[in-house]
Amino acid sequence: MTSACDRIDPYHPSDAPSDESFDIESAEAYVASTAVRCGGCRHRTEVICLYCRAGTACGEPLECFTLHEIHGVDRALAQQLGRWPAFRLDERYGAYVNHCTHCNAVHADLHSEPQLPFYDIAGSSAVVLTRLHGTIRLNGDYSVDI
Ligand SMILES: [Zn+2]
Repeated sequence: MTSACDRIDPYHPSDAPSDESFDIESAEAYVASTAVRCGGCRHRTEVICLYCRAGTACGEPLECFTLHEIHGVDRALAQQLGRWPAFRLDERYGAYVNHCTHCNAVHADLHSEPQLPFYDIAGSSAVVLTRLHGTIRLNGDYSVDI
């Protein structure tokens, strides 16, 4: 049996077949949101990312991890993410990224450096967590909190 994790297909994220399998699952998932000042238009704009207190990636249990490079979500998660329309699949990135609500500039990397808002979600007082319903299923990358 081939693991879904063996599949590498980052270039066709949006036309996923209905029987698509998902590598990452979490029944304790949150939308982490905060505001950043847009480098394009200087307005403040809301940005989000997905954060899980517990879940699995390719069947391996994980705790407290942040999702990025999300390129596929199941229908239930897509519906919940509809509340944050500025966070959407962008073909140039092949993944979900945040867009400025004023000028549509992309805010792609909000987690990789300590000064970025989603570097330490659990330790940040500026980040608000909104619980997602049910079990979320998606394909993407993740980083585990230290
Ligand atoms: Zn902007």
